[in-house]
Amino acid sequence: MYFKSLTLSGFKSFGKSTVFEFPSRITSVVGPNGSGKSNVVEAIRWVLGEQSIKSLRGKKGEDLIFNGSDKAARLGKAEVKLIFDNSKKQFPYEFDEVIISRRVIRDGTNEYLLNGSQVRLKDIFQLLSTVGFGSTQHHIISQGEVDRILWASPRDRQEMIEEALGLKEYHLKKRDAERKLGETENNLRQIDAQVRELRPHLKYLATQAEKMKATEEYRRDLQEKARLWAAREHGALAEINKDASSERDPLEDELREKSVRIKELAGEIARAEKSFSGLEIKDAVKEKLTELDERRRALERELGRIEGLLAAGAGSKDSEVSVKMIAGELRDTLSFVKEIADKDSFETLKSGINDIKVRLEKLLKLSVGERDAAADLALEKKKQEMSSELREIERTVTELRTQREETGAVREDTLRELREREHEIRTEERELESIRTKLRTLDFAGEKYKIRHTELANFMRDLKIEENALPQAEPFVGDTDRAQLLRQIERLRIKLEEAGGIDISIVKEYEDTKSRDEFLTNELRDINEAASQLKTLMRELDQKLHEKFSEGLKSINEEFLALFRSVFGGGKAKLAYVAPAVSETGEIVEGGIEIELDIPRKRLRSLDMLSGGERALTSVALLFAMSAVNPPPFLVLDETDAALDEANSQRYGDLLEQLAKKTQLIIVTHNRHTMQRAGILYGVTMSGDGISRVISLKLEEAKEFAKEG
Ligand code: ATP
Repeated sequence: MYFKSLTLSGFKSFGKSTVFEFPSRITSVVGPNGSGKSNVVEAIRWVLGEQSIKSLRGKKGEDLIFNGSDKAARLGKAEVKLIFDNSKKQFPYEFDEVIISRRVIRDGTNEYLLNGSQVRLKDIFQLLSTVGFGSTQHHIISQGEVDRILWASPRDRQEMIEEALGLKEYHLKKRDAERKLGETENNLRQIDAQVRELRPHLKYLATQAEKMKATEEYRRDLQEKARLWAAREHGALAEINKDASSERDPLEDELREKSVRIKELAGEIARAEKSFSGLEIKDAVKEKLTELDERRRALERELGRIEGLLAAGAGSKDSEVSVKMIAGELRDTLSFVKEIADKDSFETLKSGINDIKVRLEKLLKLSVGERDAAADLALEKKKQEMSSELREIERTVTELRTQREETGAVREDTLRELREREHEIRTEERELESIRTKLRTLDFAGEKYKIRHTELANFMRDLKIEENALPQAEPFVGDTDRAQLLRQIERLRIKLEEAGGIDISIVKEYEDTKSRDEFLTNELRDINEAASQLKTLMRELDQKLHEKFSEGLKSINEEFLALFRSVFGGGKAKLAYVAPAVSETGEIVEGGIEIELDIPRKRLRSLDMLSGGERALTSVALLFAMSAVNPPPFLVLDETDAALDEANSQRYGDLLEQLAKKTQLIIVTHNRHTMQRAGILYGVTMSGDGISRVISLKLEEAKEFAKEG
């Protein structure tokens, strides 16, 4: 058997632990009113997960626990245990027994156990759905609820049928998928919102990071160019330095030599000038000569006169000579007068005139022949003195002339030499000046070199370039390359300054944000993937549901029609699926299962028109049809036969027997026709202590037992 046993411990009136075993296809529970039979049915519903305490005739969970009586103490806990034989693995479960238990404790604790392990209600439902049980519990018909399926809304009816067809499982899966999809979509929205929130910031950070990358490139470029520039400049300066000293040294030597030479020349010139001015002083010789010349001429004239006088004395007898002499004297006197006449000096004129007077007196004497011997003697003496003076003058003049000639030659030589030296010194000075100019140019270059050197040092300091980090490079030649490269470097420096410093925290933030974005994007992709998988699953489940539902509905309809006909001796019965729709007034009309009936000889317009018995029979026929198509592990029927008359009770009994071939039946009944079909009969009694007790009965006993109430 499939449904093996049911144990009630402290559940409602079952104050003592009671076990029902179900070794037969049909088990009847009989007993007087109020003995606790319905409590058994409720126990089954409860253990299978019933959530409505109200439907179990209670207000709260506590009401399900044996409440005690005058003679028995109330209990703290109610437990119901249901055991299925699973040796045929009707449940997709490895164990040979499936034991479902439910407990409630007075404090309200409610728990489910599956083979002793605590599980969730959901797990119980999931397990039960695999065998066609579900929350509608269409397989448990409580007292007075036989026609529940007829009263139910098309929608609820559809749910019952779906459950009966074992489609609940798909519904649960679908709902699960739906829930997951909901969560997933929620997740998706949240992550999407996060991504949306992150993106602008990320974009901002990306541009910052991009800028920084560019800055870093500028920096690298700058370093490279700066190093190159420094290296080339360094080389250029080294070369300039080398050239400068090789140029300067000989120039300085030359300068020194020239200076010395110029000094020498200056000395020489000074000396020459000095000796030249010395020669100038000796020009007094010229004056002396003139003076001597004049004296000589005066002496010669005097001498001539004296000689004339003397000659006149000796030759006084010769008148002709005397005339000659007188003429000569006159000529002399005349030329003297001419000479004197040219003189400006009064003194000279005075002495001249005096001379002329003497001459003229002498001439007079001569002409008269007067002679003085003593005078002749004096004249002779004077003549000799004058001759010697003349000789002396001649000698001095000769001497002076020689001296003068010599001095002139020396003077010329000196002058020439002076000129030469002066020329030389000018040449030297010119050359010296040109050397100085060259040296000044070199000095200027040196200054320039120094400036460049300082500039280079500053440049390297500013750009933090170590000298040993300089690359090998061609030295700058000229200024074009140097200036051009420097301009490029300046431009890079400006760019870098404009870009500002690198904020490492921004780079870090960018990387973090980026990986967060990547993570979220991946999440989004995964979640989208999951969502689309869920949607696919839901579509597949829908498809399956649709197929199984229409197939199942068809089979149920076949069974239903056959059962209905056998019960009503003909007619028609059909379940029709009505799809949800929108009415003319715009309301949504729920779809579901409608029941279409045609009872022989009657014209039915609605289910309401059925009699109680007809409703019971129709319901039972439908229930049985449903159970026949997909047999549940068991069916519980609590007095579903109450409204049936003798004939229909008989038919009902027949139906039960047919159905029992497919599923186990647990039937609470007062009806003896029903009892007759049972393989096992349990009698429930309640004595004075308010505790329900169970005994196994024989059919005859059972008939009596049922009447006792
Ligand atoms: P009928 O044949 O009239 O339908 P029944 O055999 O189905 O009767 P039940 O309705 O199952 O009887 O039993 C009801 C009995 O259970 C009542 O006597 C009620 O006092 C008792 N009962 C219900 N709840 C509790 C509880 N928590 N503790 C003790 N007894 C309880």
